[in-house]
Amino acid sequence: MLLVLVEDDSGAVSGGSQEALTLAHGLATDLNVPVHAAAFGTRGEFAATLGAYGVSTLHLLEGPFADAYSPECWGAALAELVRHIGAIGVIAAASEWGNEVLAHASARTGEAFASNCVTVDAGQQWSLTRVRGGGMLLEDAELAGAVKFVSLTPGAVEPAELPIPQQITTDSFVPESTDTLVHSTIVDRKSRGAGVALSTARVVVSGGRGVGSAEGFESLEELAELLGGAVGCSRVATNSGWRPHSDQVGLTGTKIAADLYIACGISGATQHWVGCMGAKSILAINTDPEAPLVTRADYAVIGDVHQVLPAILERARARKQ
Ligand code: FAD
Repeated sequence: MLLVLVEDDSGAVSGGSQEALTLAHGLATDLNVPVHAAAFGTRGEFAATLGAYGVSTLHLLEGPFADAYSPECWGAALAELVRHIGAIGVIAAASEWGNEVLAHASARTGEAFASNCVTVDAGQQWSLTRVRGGGMLLEDAELAGAVKFVSLTPGAVEPAELPIPQQITTDSFVPESTDTLVHSTIVDRKSRGAGVALSTARVVVSGGRGVGSAEGFESLEELAELLGGAVGCSRVATNSGWRPHSDQVGLTGTKIAADLYIACGISGATQHWVGCMGAKSILAINTDPEAPLVTRADYAVIGDVHQVLPAILERARARKQ
């Protein structure tokens, strides 16, 4: 069977995991095998969602180790489960968490791991395309071995529930080998922002040099809030101290997978483009009709962001009322 490692997002199955489940269902249909899922800790509440994505068995990886994230422990536990149930493929979202756990699990099983895939076709070998070089390169590869480990780039697959949910059973799996493996433990976490996460936001309102100042971002913040999205920025905005680095979109920032990316006063340098090219739709607001992002965008408004944004905001406020 195929096994999907499921990630928790505030008590629910994460969007990236739903994409991984959709990919797994397609591959399992081609291979004529069932789909199982694995989650760490007591996540029995995931069962209904997982059934809707065609999962027949949910394995809850339980034990004291499951209370605190430790990549080597969690990877070892997953590897043990993979051997125990005889999975032939393991799929997760290409989040930092998914990539870390799969890297450890694949190393423990001695099998290959392809991270950040955008397409996967199953056969004797798996043919896949993966993102490399910070998004600059798409690489075709073949994955061999008895167990294939794959992580899926956010936004690569549209999540799709089945018309009729699969009956699902839940079992508990307590691995034997995790106690001696804690080499790293998380001692503290500091939030670097509030609200919607940039990497998973459906709408991102982003600003660059053209916004002109930290204060200029107030209207971007308001628009993002009205649209239920997040604020992003270019490196110029970060370097100028207008925005924190956690807002930066690009090669050395976050890669987004939004439905809509609104780029205000951003030229669209290659290093920025690799961060926003995963957006389904791009609206560029720029005074320069020749700016690279304007020429690549789905929609463009040629004009001063300080005039265009207030007009958009007025409409957005009116629609909200
Ligand atoms: P500019 O390139 O200066 O563009 C400003 C744009 O605003 C122009 O198109 C202009 O026409 C427009 N404009 C000006 N005034 C207005 C106005 N009033 N109204 C409307 N439009 C206006 N950059 C990133 O963004 N993310 C990264 O992760 C990143 N990583 C990098 C890594 C490396 C190793 C290097 C070398 C560079 C990296 N950069 C990154 C920087 C990148 O090369 C660009 O310098 C940067 O993206 C430019 O930011 P910008 O578009 O805001 O500014």
